Amino acid sequence: MDIPTLQLNDQTSIPQFGLGVWQVPADETQRVVTDALELGYRHIDTAQMYGNEAGVGAALAAAGLARDEVYVTTKLNNGFHEPSQAKESLARSLELLGLDQVDLFLIHWPLPTQYDGDFVATWQALAELRSEGLTRSIGVSNFQPGHLDRIVAETGVVPAVNQIEVHPYFANEAARAATLRHGALVEAWSPLGQGGGELTDEVVVRIAEAHGKTPAQVLLRWQLDRGDIVFPKSMSRARLAENAAIFDFALSDAEVAELAALDKGPAGRQGPDPDVFD
Ligand code: NAD
Repeated sequence: MDIPTLQLNDQTSIPQFGLGVWQVPADETQRVVTDALELGYRHIDTAQMYGNEAGVGAALAAAGLARDEVYVTTKLNNGFHEPSQAKESLARSLELLGLDQVDLFLIHWPLPTQYDGDFVATWQALAELRSEGLTRSIGVSNFQPGHLDRIVAETGVVPAVNQIEVHPYFANEAARAATLRHGALVEAWSPLGQGGGELTDEVVVRIAEAHGKTPAQVLLRWQLDRGDIVFPKSMSRARLAENAAIFDFALSDAEVAELAALDKGPAGRQGPDPDVFD
């Protein structure tokens, strides 16, 4: 598999495609990640909240790949925004993952109405963790434009990525634009709309048939072409292979425009609204 890599604003690079392991049960994670690594995946997106970092670590250890051949992201759990807890939590994650350093550590949710809204102090703690070498890059997730503006204005540290919900029914353009304006890249979570209506949408199905591809492959291709990073989740080896077979076709400008026109705005969200989620 020839996975493109993208350059981040801290001069490191990231594979544009990988595997997300939200909702993969802890006792199945090693098997799923092992399947993915065997199929050529080299980027795993987990989180403290997912409860499966140990399974990711077990698969990495068993695969025996050189450390720089696989990109590993984890995310700060919502209960640990206080700076000293954020630091302790990354130490625990590293132990579970069996690593000395993750590639990317994210604030999972801004929680603007919790902890005095002070995600800025949390962000400063992540910057220190990067200086200490415990993570190569730092970023955020579910940050709205105003949240991004605040951390950059108050710390001068620009996140490498903002991981936000993006799929054709919820293109999330305002958050995407703010992320790109700050020089960060967008990681598009739930790129398959969590297996929902987009996979049977007549526009997506028609475009898929025209290319001899599946609807899932069309959704992923569309996002790669926009420059976003994706890590669809599947527990089935066949679907892991299918989701990775997206580097041998191209969508026309008209097809890209048709997919963009499916945006339902906030009504298309699958997940919570970051402005109120705590
Ligand atoms: P997704 O959009 O990747 O959809 C996954 C679901 O789609 C699967 O459970 C399966 O039902 C279906 N599916 C997978 N491959 C398919 C195929 N080829 N054909 C048909 N159906 C298929 O959903 P997701 O897991 O929510 O998102 C991907 C990753 O994004 C997560 O695993 C996680 O790493 C990340 N994520 C992050 C956040 C966040 O707050 N930062 C939130 C949600 C997800």
